[in-house]
Amino acid sequence: MEKSIFTRIMDGEIPAKVEYEDEQVIVIHDISPKAPVHLLIIPRKPIPTLMDVEGDDFAILAHIHAVAQKLAQKLELKGFRLINNCGKEGGQEVFHIHYHFLAGFQDESA
Ligand code: 5GP
Repeated sequence: MEKSIFTRIMDGEIPAKVEYEDEQVIVIHDISPKAPVHLLIIPRKPIPTLMDVEGDDFAILAHIHAVAQKLAQKLELKGFRLINNCGKEGGQEVFHIHYHFLAGFQDESA
């Protein structure tokens, strides 16, 4: 199977701004940000889409949520959006599962 663009980033073949990484995921800044903060939380395991997750791999999804919490704390964010585009019809362009972490739309305390 051909390597996804995200696996190529993890393998150091393509540069990316890395915000966080651990043994299960890497978090990079989206190359084309749709919000002041636009990160991609990407499992190292190259599962194509959310519909392909099964068995023990559901633990990766829980871990992604734990990483989202960590990012919010690290970046001192009051809130964020966590979005998965699933399948071509769901707007997915890169077929290596990932979650968009978006924040900084407005200061809701103002
Ligand atoms: P999708 O539509 O698959 O949910 O989102 C794919 C995301 O990956 C898009 O927001 C796109 O801007 C981002 N992206 C595509 N290629 C690259 C790349 O080479 N580097 C980075 N950092 N982001 C990328």
